[in-house]
Amino acid sequence: MDGNARPMATVVMKFGGTSVANIERIQNVACHVKREVDAGNKVAVVVSAMAGVTNQLVAWVKDANPLYDAREYDAVVATGEQVTAGLLAIALQAMGLKARSWTGWQIPIETSAAHGSARILDIPGAAIKKHLDDGEVAVVTGFQGIEPKENRVATLGRGGSDTSAVAMAVALQADVCDIYTDVDGVYTTDPRIVPKARRLAKVSYEEMLEMASLGSKVLQTRSVELAMVYKVRTRVLSSFVAPDAMKPFRIENIEDIGTTVCDEEEIVEQQVVSGIAYAKDEAKVTLVKVDDKPGVAARIFGPLSEANINVDMIVQNITPDGRQTDMTFTVQAAELNRALDVLKKAKADIGHFDIRSSADVVKISVIGVGMRSHAGVAAKMFKTLSDKGINIHAISTSEIKISVLIDAAYAELAVRSLHSAYGLDSE
Ligand code: ADP
Ligand code: ASP
Ligand code: MG
Repeated sequence: MDGNARPMATVVMKFGGTSVANIERIQNVACHVKREVDAGNKVAVVVSAMAGVTNQLVAWVKDANPLYDAREYDAVVATGEQVTAGLLAIALQAMGLKARSWTGWQIPIETSAAHGSARILDIPGAAIKKHLDDGEVAVVTGFQGIEPKENRVATLGRGGSDTSAVAMAVALQADVCDIYTDVDGVYTTDPRIVPKARRLAKVSYEEMLEMASLGSKVLQTRSVELAMVYKVRTRVLSSFVAPDAMKPFRIENIEDIGTTVCDEEEIVEQQVVSGIAYAKDEAKVTLVKVDDKPGVAARIFGPLSEANINVDMIVQNITPDGRQTDMTFTVQAAELNRALDVLKKAKADIGHFDIRSSADVVKISVIGVGMRSHAGVAAKMFKTLSDKGINIHAISTSEIKISVLIDAAYAELAVRSLHSAYGLDSE
């Protein structure tokens, strides 16, 4: 240890599934943790299940009964993280560090009762803080907490360990929340689809929130929401960089490595478009020839909302006779069958219509805070897609994003073409 006069930093380090995929990778993670401890930092680690484990657990639940009890789903799928936490604590102890694993209920990470996609309500940080003050590394299971009323394990939705990490950073008033994954930052688009994607040194909370919610799964949407509300300095880093090739975290000299998610004001060179996201989990529903009269939209979307089905894009056509219209909208692909069922049940109320649906669609979005002050972003998007002969089924916009729905077969072509068109390709 060097320089005792230096203020100690509290660091939350989160490692995703591929970073802890086997014992060797877990030992590599332990080396990343040791680097921080040796530099005098207090460290809490949040871990995901080993790669593929959560998928396997989910598949077993569905095999056991497709209409499973959500509480028991959580009891099963939360186990993956417990294995990793224990193994990492053992690996850290083997390196001579003080380490202890913690599951969600032991902390306790208190959540809502929405099993399968619960929200974190509170984390009393004092007990864990004491352990960190004693020089112990706390290895915390991501993705899970406890619902206090029924005292049952609850999970936070797929990708939820990111949210566990940011929430731990809030509870511990950590100086940084470092999310280690299999890419070295947030890119202008998924680098696995577009090899010319560029790493963003910084991205604003708002843009990251849009990117995450529009399909860039590098961070779970709720983790970005939390980071934005509590102003947690969050970085996305690679665990695949050799542990000794990285410098330990320093409060007095924060290195902008990987990607830092931060306030918009901290970003000097703001692009008009910062990123392109795609989401394959959308489905399109078209009601053909519904009556074009007041109240019909309410009779369609009311029952869907009562059934807790989120509707995203909506397009209503005009028909020449003004009597009937086609209404197209999107729902999550996983909800398509339920949505169709709800609509059939509401048919008497809605009136006549034929129904068409397809899950073979993808939503492509361009995102950038610069759109607020620049015109022509949408026009460029439509022109680029039309030049490639790609048909647009629906469009939706907000202040800092434009989304279009297209056939899934064109997803990669669309993302690549837009990436070039907005000047995002690396040299
Ligand atoms: P982890 O298991 O570490 O949580 P994830 O698979 O959840 O990792 O997230 C990392 C992956 O996110 C990357 O491998 C990459 O393919 C994907 N990804 C999607 N969009 C982006 C983006 N804009 N920048 C970086 N990665 C992205
Ligand atoms: N293991 C969980 C999942 O695969 C949580 C996570 O990795 O963030 O979704
Ligand atoms: Mg993830």
